[in-house]
Amino acid sequence: MAVPLQSPSPCDNKMSCDSLWWGADLVTLRDGRYSIIENGAIAVKDGKILWIGPYAQCPDFDAAQRTDFGGGIITPGFIDCHTHLVFGGDRSGEFEQRLNGVSYADIAAQGGGILSTVNATREATQQQLIDQAAFRLQPLLAEGVTCVEIKSGYGLSVESELKMLQAIRALGSTQQVEVKATCLAAHAIPPEYQGRADDYIDLICETLLPQVAAASLADAVDAFCEHLAFSPQQVERVFNKAKSLGLPVKLHAEQLSALHGSTLAARHAALSADHLEYATESDVQAMAASGTVAVLLPGAYYLLRETQCPPIALFRRHGVAMALASDANPGTSPALSLRLMLNMACTLFRMTPEEALAGITYHGAKALGLQQTHGSLEINKVADFVHWPLARPAELVYWLGGQLPCTVIYRGEIRL
Ligand SMILES: [Zn+2]
Repeated sequence: MAVPLQSPSPCDNKMSCDSLWWGADLVTLRDGRYSIIENGAIAVKDGKILWIGPYAQCPDFDAAQRTDFGGGIITPGFIDCHTHLVFGGDRSGEFEQRLNGVSYADIAAQGGGILSTVNATREATQQQLIDQAAFRLQPLLAEGVTCVEIKSGYGLSVESELKMLQAIRALGSTQQVEVKATCLAAHAIPPEYQGRADDYIDLICETLLPQVAAASLADAVDAFCEHLAFSPQQVERVFNKAKSLGLPVKLHAEQLSALHGSTLAARHAALSADHLEYATESDVQAMAASGTVAVLLPGAYYLLRETQCPPIALFRRHGVAMALASDANPGTSPALSLRLMLNMACTLFRMTPEEALAGITYHGAKALGLQQTHGSLEINKVADFVHWPLARPAELVYWLGGQLPCTVIYRGEIRL
């Protein structure tokens, strides 16, 4: 039987969305540039950006929720693509000892340094690790972080590395932030493997990583390539195993010396090579060829009073994407502010404010393999963005310290 045609009601001509936001300049960070849309509008549906453009060109959306910001700027949600936020204890006592003149050697002889964090992490329950990391996460969330990577690497045993990764996964399911987990078991040589680093690499490759992959506990695998940690040959074994399990890789490389870990990382199509103070032009060329992101960590540079800057000019010349991160960790970068990292990257490394902001948005997403879904304000990307009552994006870099007021929209809804 034929169904009579009905003329559509007026509403049927309207596109519908869940929420519409306007009245601010949109700093889209498309392709890692400011790419500003003045007086823009964003329509959100099902947690994603349905439409974005100048408010004057905005279709007549049927929106359940409408927000006029009445000025200011909107940036993508911030991405902290390199942190060690899960750990037991802290090292503020050591920090004070060092400033009172106690040497690194004496602190290490007292059981300090990374081993004190390893011991505290092993002793902590999973819930204690979750609670302490949640506490440290709050300052990052308050300043607009919507995606954070967290590494294991203080357990250094199968049981404790799994406990850390489970804690990281639990944070992802309980906190209002996208959490990416990275297995950094090859962070340091555990005390019971001193002088037997290859045996520890065996444990990582043959026992730990297969369990991590089977339980989907990590999104990537990282290692520390340095004289005081693991050689390029040992790192390569970890990388080969990770790739055989379908896990992408990244690497702490060239922080204190030039072992060409970043070239090794590039050869394995790593998502990122991180630190890079001692990277050479050939390393940078290799990274450019593989599309490996340079993750720069000014907090550690500052706290260690380093003097060798990462080769920013070479990254620019060869077109290597530069990301920025807090490297939040108990020893070398107890940093709980990405905005402070923006300022440090510009003052210490002489990055431009535009490069720095791209480093915690578009290029931060790329360092996590998330550039298709996160890091810029574009149609179909996840609706993670932040409204700031500021006149221009450089203000995010300029104000030193303190908390700027902001409204965080996470997956399309205001995060309280
Ligand atoms: Zn690190």
